[in-house]
Amino acid sequence: MTTEDRSSPRRTSVLPGMRPDPDAPLAVLGAWARVWGPDPLRIQGPGGNLSVKRDANLWIKASGSRLDRASSDHGWTEVDWRSCRDALPPPRPGIPGRAAEAAYAELVLRAPRTPAMPRPSMELGMHAVLRARHVAHLHSLSGILTAAMRHGDPRLAVLLHPVRSAGFAVRRVPAARPGLELTWAIARRLEPPTDDTDTLYLLANHGVVWVSNDATRIRQAESDFEARARDVLGLASFGPPEVTEGPNGLECHFDAWPELAWEPRPTFPDFAVFFPDPECQPALRGRSIRVPEGLPPRDAAELVFAQALVGTRARALGLDVVLPRRVANTVAALVLERLRRAPSMGVA
Ligand SMILES: [Zn+2]
Repeated sequence: MTTEDRSSPRRTSVLPGMRPDPDAPLAVLGAWARVWGPDPLRIQGPGGNLSVKRDANLWIKASGSRLDRASSDHGWTEVDWRSCRDALPPPRPGIPGRAAEAAYAELVLRAPRTPAMPRPSMELGMHAVLRARHVAHLHSLSGILTAAMRHGDPRLAVLLHPVRSAGFAVRRVPAARPGLELTWAIARRLEPPTDDTDTLYLLANHGVVWVSNDATRIRQAESDFEARARDVLGLASFGPPEVTEGPNGLECHFDAWPELAWEPRPTFPDFAVFFPDPECQPALRGRSIRVPEGLPPRDAAELVFAQALVGTRARALGLDVVLPRRVANTVAALVLERLRRAPSMGVA
């Protein structure tokens, strides 16, 4: 067997007559993608990333791809996670400078086991510093609203009860740019030597990261949290908009919603990444949002849905969900974000 054969992401395929192993890394990832990928309350456009480690190998979502198009043999790439972790620019006080960001981008671009494998998610660093076998990062709108609550808010105890009673620790992470800055922010929250215990990281303005050695425990706790949060946060009456295509872009119609409070400033990084031009932003017109052309319609509609829902419910719940300006103004220029955006924009 060659080195390339050993590291092939198709290594979990089974011979005729053999039963597939449901705990095999790509079987776990494929099952997660089937459940979470099609749900715009959890994932929008090419967002979110999942990974599984086994020994030195880490399988992770390919960058720029939609999770609902991934399966147990497609949409993933493979890296040596310990090498990636050891090569990360070490966390320093403050945010990463230009040299550290450049070194990180180079590390991610060179990470695949073989040159034929796709580029990994730009959140590779975060997945590599978390030692637990399974890591699931979702752009959960419930997670964004929950993370916007202040310490001591009595609603937090209700929202997080299913998480804590399932045995997961909860750690909060302040707003950060995706990639190296988020990796450093997560690294600062690790508590060695128990940093592979079941944990939910609540990322301000970004979503959730579920961490466990047991994939089944993540599935159950994540599902229980989403059910509780959607109920407590009143998300049930706010379905995806009706979308029509015009000559200059999309119109997303929110007439079926009980109310619409459009926040024009980004509430999460992907809104800033995929609508980077201040002169060409989605804009409110009556009960509709007009979306400039450029993105695939489904990606654009999901991002606008998320921005509309977070903004509308945040106003009703008394929460501040505006992405800090420092993050919003700089995230779209990151090298890895430009590469991730390029296929969606038809640039590369
Ligand atoms: Zn993310």
